[in-house]
Amino acid sequence: MTQAPDDADARRAVAPVICYPDDTLPKPDLDLYAAARATARKSGEILVPPRDARCFEVPRGQFFRITSVGGPQVGDLNLWNAEDLTERFYSGKTRALHGTHLTTGERMWSSFPHLRPMATITWDSLDWYGIDAFGGSVHDVIGTRCDPYTGNLLSGTQYHHCCHSNLIRALAGHLGVSAVEAEPHVHDVLNVFMCTGFTRDTGQYFMKASPVRPGDHLEFFAEIDLLGGLSACPGGDCGSGHSSDAAACHPLLVEIFAPAPGSLEGWQPREPSQYDRSHGL
Ligand SMILES: [Zn+2]
Repeated sequence: MTQAPDDADARRAVAPVICYPDDTLPKPDLDLYAAARATARKSGEILVPPRDARCFEVPRGQFFRITSVGGPQVGDLNLWNAEDLTERFYSGKTRALHGTHLTTGERMWSSFPHLRPMATITWDSLDWYGIDAFGGSVHDVIGTRCDPYTGNLLSGTQYHHCCHSNLIRALAGHLGVSAVEAEPHVHDVLNVFMCTGFTRDTGQYFMKASPVRPGDHLEFFAEIDLLGGLSACPGGDCGSGHSSDAAACHPLLVEIFAPAPGSLEGWQPREPSQYDRSHGL
């Protein structure tokens, strides 16, 4: 190991600076969304079976809610622009802008070159949880999704009901394409209801039993026309393992709510990024 310099403690004592201060980040009009939501009527629902996934569409200006219904269960959420699947949720940039876990008022941002809000969280019934003594919190954008490749790498298994594969089957069915064609569209997720963090001593990604209980929900406002994919993770509440059929698993309910016409006066979908894309050439 490298010998520490004489001023090692002084270097460690340098205070951090926030990479992306959020004072210039465009803010959602949560009062307008709340007023619109109060007028909304349910326009559809879909039940996501345990260890499986489903796709759903949400027109811009409508809300969608993910609810734990049968027992503690986490969900892996993908979002695409319904008209252009190349515009999709960008977990890493969302993490850089909002932090490791999302809650009310924060947004799911889209991939380059678009970088605009796809969905805004308007209601989080687990907002009381905060950050626990282990550094854990809920609804993370630090995990990727459970997948058969990592399972095979670490355990040599052939397991087909990880969230990655569940999302591929759901998207393939929705688009009428093969698994091979659907796979490149599946991307890093928002881990709905999952309780995660990094250990303070080794910096390792950890999970712990989700505090979610039946009735808990996370609700979103669709900023653009959305295609969503939600997997009910084979880890169940992710209190022990995943990537197997060992954990108790439950369904997740997705409901769509349409506000009354005229209730979003003044709101418009945000245009894609105005960066000119010349990249210095
Ligand atoms: Zn999973």
